[in-house]
Amino acid sequence: MKHRFETFGGIIASDDPPFLAFVDRPYMRELGVGESPLWDGADQGIGRLSAPTEVHLAATNACPVKCDHCYMDGGSAAADEMDQATFERGLQVLADMGVFHVALGGGEALMRKDIFALAQRARQLGLVPNLTVSGYLMTPALAERMTVFGQVNVSVDGAGPMAGVFRAPERFAEADAAIDLLVGAGVPTGINCVIGRRNAPGIADLFAYAKQKGVNEIEFLRLKPAGRGASVYAAERTTYEQNVALTPLLAELSEETGLCAKVDCSFVPMMCHHEPPLEVLEATATYGCEAANVLLGIRSDGSVAGCSFLPTQDLSLFDLPDQWDSHPSFEQLRSWTEHAPEPCRSCRYLELCKGGCHAVAAFVTGDLMAPDPDCPRVVDYARQEGP
Ligand code: SF4
Ligand code: SF4
Repeated sequence: MKHRFETFGGIIASDDPPFLAFVDRPYMRELGVGESPLWDGADQGIGRLSAPTEVHLAATNACPVKCDHCYMDGGSAAADEMDQATFERGLQVLADMGVFHVALGGGEALMRKDIFALAQRARQLGLVPNLTVSGYLMTPALAERMTVFGQVNVSVDGAGPMAGVFRAPERFAEADAAIDLLVGAGVPTGINCVIGRRNAPGIADLFAYAKQKGVNEIEFLRLKPAGRGASVYAAERTTYEQNVALTPLLAELSEETGLCAKVDCSFVPMMCHHEPPLEVLEATATYGCEAANVLLGIRSDGSVAGCSFLPTQDLSLFDLPDQWDSHPSFEQLRSWTEHAPEPCRSCRYLELCKGGCHAVAAFVTGDLMAPDPDCPRVVDYARQEGP
């Protein structure tokens, strides 16, 4: 089992069953993995990790599907995309830092002819590569090779009438065929669904579709105002009522179908609205904004951002070992809760939620330090305060 030391103890990773566990110092000692110099100082908690656990790596910006909400503005390959040798050096950097997972996406990652070589290199380095694809380019032969990935998710934002909300409706057939090929090849397969106001009414139908297809899970992602998502955000963002209804709806459908439903970090404020016990959220490792701590986003040219949806900084993947602890943009994200304004300041979920999605806040309010404007508690607070 792979492990990494942290000031609080450490993180252990298992491939089968796949999990990451954050454990304390006594537990690490019980595992017999030795002592760490990190334990000489104070326990800094899980808000200051020694490295990200997961890095989202855009393999390329090239993509023929060109979804309306693409956070990478996918279409043509970006200038200066990393070639195979540079990409592999980058993977080495991440492995040396102690990263556990790399989520390869794009663009359409299969537009890279070397994608399997990159995945194999990640495996050799002890990284688990996961992949997100549109379904375009999937063939039976490629599906058979996909077992190198820990999981492959196919982007499907809806079935039936919802299939064409963010992309050309005829693209659904490609995604649908890709899911069949992947499931048939025994590849752990999931669905990524970006939720906006027009496809939210199709969530129940998507569960039924996913169940029929035999996928492992559906991951629901909030629409982000990044890339082309910025130009559709105002019209497509989910409504207050949809945000409030989402968590109970997913819980109900998940129980009904037996399918695992995940939400991304940016939906945590919508969960907190229902006042779940903090212990339950902690026990299930449900945390809000993890930019520049658990997560990091790296573009296809090697430039780095706190997460895939935040602007890149004057920083390259190869600067990370020196800059991880101290880069000002990372520090700003990690210390957000220390400067939290109301209503986050008095919210009992602050340390866990961390003020919601800072990418959304920065886009909508112009201020990265503002509370997430779509959090129901933030909306209620603004209504009480008046104009
Ligand atoms: S008020 Fe702030 S901290 Fe509380 S749930 Fe909303 S965004 Fe998160
Ligand atoms: S800014 Fe934070 S909450 Fe928003 S997507 Fe990035 S990591 Fe998640």
